[in-house]
Amino acid sequence: MTRMVRAAVKIDIEKTEIREFARPCIGDDDGLLKVECSGVGGSDPEMYRKPGTAPCIMGHENVGTVDEIGAAAAKRWGLKIGDRIALHEYLPCWNCHWCRQGDQRLCMEADFFNVKDKFNTLRYGTCNAGIAPHLWGGFAEYMYLAPNAVIHKLPPQMDARHATLAVPLGNGVQWAVLDGGAGLGKTVLVYGPGQQGLGCALAAKAAGASKVIICGLTRDRSRLDLATRLGTDISVDAAQEDLEKIVMRETGGLGVDVVVDTTGDPTGEIARQAVALSAKGAWLSLNGLSQSVPIGEIKKRYLTVRAPRGHSYRSVEIALQLIASGRWPLDLLCSHDFALDQVHEAILATAGRGIPDAVHVTVSPWRVAEA
Ligand SMILES: [Zn+2]
Repeated sequence: MTRMVRAAVKIDIEKTEIREFARPCIGDDDGLLKVECSGVGGSDPEMYRKPGTAPCIMGHENVGTVDEIGAAAAKRWGLKIGDRIALHEYLPCWNCHWCRQGDQRLCMEADFFNVKDKFNTLRYGTCNAGIAPHLWGGFAEYMYLAPNAVIHKLPPQMDARHATLAVPLGNGVQWAVLDGGAGLGKTVLVYGPGQQGLGCALAAKAAGASKVIICGLTRDRSRLDLATRLGTDISVDAAQEDLEKIVMRETGGLGVDVVVDTTGDPTGEIARQAVALSAKGAWLSLNGLSQSVPIGEIKKRYLTVRAPRGHSYRSVEIALQLIASGRWPLDLLCSHDFALDQVHEAILATAGRGIPDAVHVTVSPWRVAEA
């Protein structure tokens, strides 16, 4: 008899239903993950609203145990049944120019800025569930381990919900520390106290930054308070307080050494302000697709500007080390956990709709929903 796998499938805009798929036959070169926990990403509410992206099993911050594995895959990954792993969402080719130099997120086949049809490009949590073997997302009992998956081994005692922070915290390590150079003696400004912004602030403090300032709006009050509890030096409500004044006061009038914008501000206002608040020689990670970056000011201040673009293997490995260290109160970030038939509520909570004060929301597919 065919064994079936339950999955929460996005079937239309902001609509999910539980469907069953046949458990895939695993060959020599692939495997099957029993999903312990899958984080709802900051981009998931947008994906959930997007037309033309159904059917899809969402969930791209995935953690679980190896349930079945082929001999060649076991050898290549150094894994056996029962091992715990976390995965990137990328399914890179491992063979193009970018993959060969270790930057799978820029892979010619996997990079969303390269591919023509994102929905039919294989990537965990965003692709077409009609493509066999269908189990391409973490909001399901099992997920397919494709031969080209990007895998990190986890220590057996790591909390599964904490481990789902590997990707958002990996983004923080990438953008604030590896790209931005946050470290000893550096001052850092982070725009947006969502899971990526909090990840940037935490990574910067872990790297030894002398002062980390995070800013949000009045509706972010509880996340700003959370940032303070996670070790951020100054949390600013930019709707109520004068951010420019605070940054200049806290940096002795020099401006900050590192800026990361996690908001994707479409107006270009944050880019303008970020440049104005930068010290000479600062590194800025500016988001959004606005055309308004002031080149003249960048030259005068000798700034380095780039955009946040996902995470490298190294950044996620460092994030897992931070999680394993136990030095950070990560329970504060893992605000809500839902069962498989509550995926709709989980995504809406991440969007600030329904259940209030969500930060990092997770789905545990084997958890029984509370009545
Ligand atoms: Zn590639």
